[in-house]
Amino acid sequence: MATTTSINPYNGKELKSYKNHTKKEISEIIDKADKRFYNWRETPFSERKKLMLAAASELKKNKREYAETMTLEMGKPIYQAIAEIEKCSWVCEYYAENAEKQLQNEVIKTDAHKSYVSYEPLGVVLAIMPWNYPFWQVFRFAAPALMAGNIGVLKHASNVFGSALNIEKVFNRAGFPKNCFTTLLVGSDAVEGIIENEKIKAVTLTGSGPAGSSVASVAGKNIKKTVLELGGSNALIVMKDCDMDKTIDTCVQARFQNTGQSCIAGKRLLIDESISEEFVEKMLVKVRELKSGDPMDEETYIGTLAREDLAKDLEKQVNASVKAGAKIRIGGKRQGAYFEPTILTNVANKMAVFNEETFGPALSVTTFKTAQEAISLSNSSKFGLGVSIFTKNIEEAEKLAFRFDEGAVFINELVKSDPRLPFGGIKKSGYGRELSEHGIREFVNRKTVFIN
Ligand code: NDP
Repeated sequence: MATTTSINPYNGKELKSYKNHTKKEISEIIDKADKRFYNWRETPFSERKKLMLAAASELKKNKREYAETMTLEMGKPIYQAIAEIEKCSWVCEYYAENAEKQLQNEVIKTDAHKSYVSYEPLGVVLAIMPWNYPFWQVFRFAAPALMAGNIGVLKHASNVFGSALNIEKVFNRAGFPKNCFTTLLVGSDAVEGIIENEKIKAVTLTGSGPAGSSVASVAGKNIKKTVLELGGSNALIVMKDCDMDKTIDTCVQARFQNTGQSCIAGKRLLIDESISEEFVEKMLVKVRELKSGDPMDEETYIGTLAREDLAKDLEKQVNASVKAGAKIRIGGKRQGAYFEPTILTNVANKMAVFNEETFGPALSVTTFKTAQEAISLSNSSKFGLGVSIFTKNIEEAEKLAFRFDEGAVFINELVKSDPRLPFGGIKKSGYGRELSEHGIREFVNRKTVFIN
């Protein structure tokens, strides 16, 4: 019988072992989910809204309980974990209030007596999710999916099965009918068979490029829609006329929050060479102040990475870049799953810390002479999730926005997700959008109705 064991990355101790679902159990869970779909889709929006608001309240009420499991499982500092649960509550409230309007029939004038598009649920949607935001990544899928009348089946990352079960618990405690949202305790080797199940109608994945490519291939073979939210290597572009102190604070947060494990983190600082040295010196002061320690301690800002192998991957990228000529200005060392907050200067675009995704607290710094050079450096990444530009000349920055091959351009702000705005990337960062009206319309049948 296969089992999955979760390890606390902070102390290396075993937390819990979970018995994986067998093929038979997986099939039974999907059957029940599918059966539930046929009456869930008939429920009025007012009923779904009531339940989704109850989920929002449940998250708020028991945020500490849910946050602690996340922190133990993947090393996220506890106050950041609590903030994540609160954000999940927000996305539930957002879709509870807006889904009906976002999915109302769209009347289109034609030669018909009446013609319109209706947005109808697809059925059971499989969500394959990562460990970096164990609750948020799932809720930003689940809230719109359930409000649209779909059913969710979750295959969460193998190191956060406790959080996966907690998410199921949130919906059950909120009073959702059984099997509206279920967790499958399975490894990635079971995913192909799950996608092939005819009752699974679509798939969403947040994670690495290889995982996305593999899942999309199987889904493609089975003609099933996918949304992929993959990695990123966002640039933080700092112009010489920026508000330096404010920009430094934003850049530190953009790179180091969640211990650097975010797809939208600002990973590559691109800075006008005339202010580079002053900026880096001031930034070093701020980074030295970031408190590392026990993720359960309220004061901790830098926890551990989610697994030791992920910290080792980052170590390799940093070491290879140093060998190629990058200079460590602070940090650079690993201890178990902990990696010191790190800044590397003299970084060129051939180096690993520039052209690969660095999923931990390491910032690369590269200088430029002109805005055009900054745009070229930013666009040279294979990823295209988002970019931040820091300048006082907002008019000029807005004009440049369309030259970036990105899913988002943020001016004087770090790239962040917001339930009201679409979120997603282009190039190797994936396709499709989550959140906002765009997100809820990903997993619906846009049905044309024509009446003569
Ligand atoms: P993965 O992409 O491997 O894991 C994400 C999810 O996909 C997990 O649920 C995982 O399951 C599943 N998965 C992995 N491979 C397959 C597959 N072939 N078929 C189906 N499902 C699969 O991320 P890692 O944990 O290995 O992290 C590696 C790197 O990925 C990070 O360093 C980072 O660069 C990137 N990443 C990006 C994230 C983002 O937010 N965009 C989030 C997490 C990682 P299981 O855990 O059982 O393997």
